[in-house]
Amino acid sequence: MIHEYEAVIIGSGGAGLYAALEASKKAKTAVLSKLYPIRSHTGAAQGGISAALGNVEEDKPEWHAFDTVKGGDYLVDQNAANILAETSVQAVYDLENRGLPFNRTPEGLIDQRRFGGHTRNFGQAPVRRACYAADRTGHMILQTLYQQCIKNNVSFFDEFHIVDVILDQKKCGGIIALELATGDIHIFKSKAVLFATGGFGRMFSITSNAYANTGDGPALLLRKGVPLEDLEFFQFHPTGIYGMGILITEGVRGEGGILRNQDGERFMEQYAPKLLDLAPRDMIARAIMNQISKGKGIKGDQSIYDYVHLDATHLGAEVIEEKLPEISDFSKTYLGIDPAKKPIPVQPTAHYAMGGIPTDENGRVAADGKGSFYEGLYAAGECACVSVHGANRLGTNSLVDLIVFGKRAGVEMAKFVHGSHFLRFPKHPPKSGKALIEKLKENRNGPQPEKIRSQLQKYMTEKVGVYRGEEDMQKALTVINHLREEYKKVSLQDTNKPFNTHLLELLELGNLLDLAYATAFCALDRKETRGAHARNDYPERDDKNWLKHTLAWLKDDRVSVSAKPVDIVKWKPKPRKY
Ligand SMILES: Cc1cc2nc3c(=O)[nH]c(=O)nc-3n(C[C@H](O)[C@H](O)[C@H](O)COP(=O)(O)OP(=O)(O)OC[C@H]3O[C@@H](n4cnc5c(N)ncnc54)[C@H](O)[C@@H]3O)c2cc1C
Repeated sequence: MIHEYEAVIIGSGGAGLYAALEASKKAKTAVLSKLYPIRSHTGAAQGGISAALGNVEEDKPEWHAFDTVKGGDYLVDQNAANILAETSVQAVYDLENRGLPFNRTPEGLIDQRRFGGHTRNFGQAPVRRACYAADRTGHMILQTLYQQCIKNNVSFFDEFHIVDVILDQKKCGGIIALELATGDIHIFKSKAVLFATGGFGRMFSITSNAYANTGDGPALLLRKGVPLEDLEFFQFHPTGIYGMGILITEGVRGEGGILRNQDGERFMEQYAPKLLDLAPRDMIARAIMNQISKGKGIKGDQSIYDYVHLDATHLGAEVIEEKLPEISDFSKTYLGIDPAKKPIPVQPTAHYAMGGIPTDENGRVAADGKGSFYEGLYAAGECACVSVHGANRLGTNSLVDLIVFGKRAGVEMAKFVHGSHFLRFPKHPPKSGKALIEKLKENRNGPQPEKIRSQLQKYMTEKVGVYRGEEDMQKALTVINHLREEYKKVSLQDTNKPFNTHLLELLELGNLLDLAYATAFCALDRKETRGAHARNDYPERDDKNWLKHTLAWLKDDRVSVSAKPVDIVKWKPKPRKY
């Protein structure tokens, strides 16, 4: 079946929906999503969305921009960070006007709480910058945007899984998708395509990410010759539920929660004397692993490594129920622990991809590091890399990234489609999507995909995790390459067309493998410690040699890398102290 839309958006998380809202004002717009829109991972975001509203104490967008740059260990493109910080104020009011039920101050203003790395006056003391709707902020954003998209007559194709993109030289002409309900292949001709397919934490075994976060968009583009930026920077959130990785929001520490080791010591005093438990995530994740390797963690049998305690008992049941109801519920459900009475066992969990599809500030996808772009191809949200997060994202800066840059990409797409034509289509539309599926069907008695997936996740967590070393990463690369070869032989057990979830899992596994391969390669290549990329063999940041973005390319099934300059307009790199 062939469809024609001026703008096609893949992904219905915060980034995709905001782009759709804008694009649909001027262009015939479709949103495709492999999930029902409101099940996108944005709905799981708990803690908040940052904007220097200054509602509870003095704050300024300039301080927000500075914190973002410093938090990202100076790998942030500073013009993009300025746009993020300055636009976020209006973006939050726009969400409020569209109906988002934020928590309020007694005076009726949007309430704000503390979050890691957000400070007043360029690092002096923590500031309350995170706007929030209890600990269901992302859920509220998704509901708000979805209902507005319905009102704007955006066409939704739910449970459509993209399998290919039509690229002619550097021009995008549409995409190809598999409809889950029927197993049919659909072609979407389009003047402009936006990728907003979210993150890929599922390449790790301990992760806060939903099952659907398999990086389908970036992996597909990587195979099509599009470079990916800064893949080596993957954030490990310090507080995942022990043994499961399910997220316990930083909002707990924002409200006053404290991390303690097995002796009950507040160990962050040793690592970040000023910001303590509200230092950036990379530093806290490392501090926890450091405590564990010193034998100060707490022993358990649920995970490959020990855990520490997140103590919220002193906050009182009332604050927890009013401001953190979701994590209270998680803790009771998964651990049988009431956080008002006992500390929560936590350990670092793979959380957020700072890297992704390289774009400019209007969502246009870069074709190289030298300033040339694809035509009609856009990306926004976690799958993209603007780059506002650099080497380490600050908490609450992703939701604002979706809203600010999702909107800008939507506006740009609407502008672009008016001056452009649909690509002339070949007489016989591309068969690549179908061919891929046919190939998976042909294999007989191949290796088990579940085993490949669990091996991949184990090696990524153990060897390309919070701390990384040459030998470990070499080992990971060898194993991943072997798994990629095995993957070529896997067989599709279920060959039925309707609701073939086995087929989807195989497609997702292929994407995880390619992204993990590129991630491990880039991590091995970068010989320094910066932000979330901590090398135990190169423990210092090396601005002389490494103050540059990485671009990874996949050619002939092998990764190669090149560099892209960092946009430093205002703040020169300084040592990071908190
Ligand atoms: C548990 C958790 C809590 C978080 N809390 C916060 C927070 O408090 N504050 C903050 O700023 N950030 C937070 N984050 C990060 C933030 O929520 C995410 O980075 C952000 O929501 C990603 O949004 P997105 O629009 O890019 O993608 P997503 O919301 O992940 O949506 C991706 C979309 O792409 C679609 N898709 C994917 N692959 C395909 C395919 N092959 N075909 C078709 N469609 C496809 C999916 O169906 C989905 O609709 C949190 C993340 C997690 C995991």
